[in-house]
Amino acid sequence: MGNSYFVLNSCLLMNEQLILKLTNVGKSFAVAGGKLTILEKVSFDIKKGEKVAIIGPSGSGKSTLLSLLGLLDSPSVGTIEILGQEVGGLSEQAKAKFRNEVIGFVFQSFELIAPFTVKENVSAPLDISGQKAKPELVSDILAEVGLTERSAALPNTLSGGEKQRVAIARALVHKPAILLADEPTGSLDRETGEKVLKFLLDAVTNRETTLLVITHDEAMAAMMDRIFEIKEQTVYERR
Ligand code: ADP
Ligand code: MG
Repeated sequence: MGNSYFVLNSCLLMNEQLILKLTNVGKSFAVAGGKLTILEKVSFDIKKGEKVAIIGPSGSGKSTLLSLLGLLDSPSVGTIEILGQEVGGLSEQAKAKFRNEVIGFVFQSFELIAPFTVKENVSAPLDISGQKAKPELVSDILAEVGLTERSAALPNTLSGGEKQRVAIARALVHKPAILLADEPTGSLDRETGEKVLKFLLDAVTNRETTLLVITHDEAMAAMMDRIFEIKEQTVYERR
């Protein structure tokens, strides 16, 4: 009885696990004649498995925010904690390791490696993170996004929707805690975009991956658990 109480309690704790915590994050760029402030006083918490849409006009700082969360750039002020670790203090090498293990990225323009087959594109993150090739991880995720038959194909022989499904498989193969997606259906027609989004949502739900997705599409935003809106250099949660 004591044991089952403990197990239940830790499950509750796990469900509530904080994945991301931003405290007063700001980002400005040095430009001719001074500095350009893009983000100010951004604070929010995101828990394991939550799906968050980020919306805002073009140029409002959505991609900038994503590159801070993905450790591709550093905030000018404030702190970012990922899985309880304050990442600002990490060395570049430690940041790269963290990024490779904890974060997956999907971009609007797919960013596949042209001379690599579908399978090689998807296994690249496993090779980079020094894990031994795990063929079953690659074949499982390829099956999940419906691309088993295209494993040996080169990217330039695929449709846009297929390319983005490869990119999704590649972003998730190493089971990152967080998936960051920057307008993942932005280059696809509506019907294809909806299909790709369904693969993406099923894959992150199966893995309890936390998803942050930038979108212009209100219908897509409405499918997420939370909606963050960037306005006047900061992030508001729509309620
Ligand atoms: P969004 O993704 O919402 O369209 P971005 O985050 O790409 O917007 O850009 C926000 C603003 O920051 C834009 O005005 C852009 O020109 C500016 N910006 C982005 N990166 C830099 C940089 N390295 N130097 C100067 N300005 C930048
Ligand atoms: Mg952008």
